[in-house]
Amino acid sequence: MRSALPADPQRPSRRPRLALLGESVVDEAAMGILTEAVLGGPFERVQPNLRARGWPSVLQILPAIARHLHFQTDADGLVVLVDADDSEPHTAAHEAPSYFHPRCRMCQLRAAFRRATKTLPPARGRERVLRAVGLAVPAAEAWYLCGLDETVGEENWVAARQEGGAPYTRRELKLRVYGTERPTLPLALERASAAARRHARDLRRLENDFPGFAAMAEDLRGWSRSLALREQAADPA
Ligand SMILES: [Zn+2]
Repeated sequence: MRSALPADPQRPSRRPRLALLGESVVDEAAMGILTEAVLGGPFERVQPNLRARGWPSVLQILPAIARHLHFQTDADGLVVLVDADDSEPHTAAHEAPSYFHPRCRMCQLRAAFRRATKTLPPARGRERVLRAVGLAVPAAEAWYLCGLDETVGEENWVAARQEGGAPYTRRELKLRVYGTERPTLPLALERASAAARRHARDLRRLENDFPGFAAMAEDLRGWSRSLALREQAADPA
């Protein structure tokens, strides 16, 4: 596992303080495990001031959460994850400078965060709150099946979509993960967390099969320099 925060045996590093924003507590449980795996160590969880349930609400409350974290907390970063559902998957073409796909949720979330934070003055000893965005195509349950069900992957989904179809429905994904379309909260938490822990042991398959996860992992790895600088500032050696 690659570590974004190399451990210094002389000085235990300060844990990064992160907020998670997902469509449900189940998604947030899995995100937390995956985030720790990418960063290579545990983080301290900062609770955002608002909670989202489902896609439009994540986009709607993101600006308020970004401002709250910036001014009212000492959060280092915010990790956001949403399901693509039937919207446009994020592709390499969307990464072009100043490009923005209006029907891609990752592009929408990145833009919303940028708009909400670009004019904020530095606060609490840092310039800005870092952000990472993931897009589960078409839903987080596909990530939970990754490596177990060979038909499930972002490439398959995109190819079928271009033909006007779908290799599986979100309902089928839920059935395969939970054994029911309407899992109880404890069952959903257990299955999602177990899947995330399986990926945490080796992230390569998930990164390879799900570019919407690879993008989130890349964001998180890109934080290492900023986090290391903050650590130095907080605790000059
Ligand atoms: Zn995009």
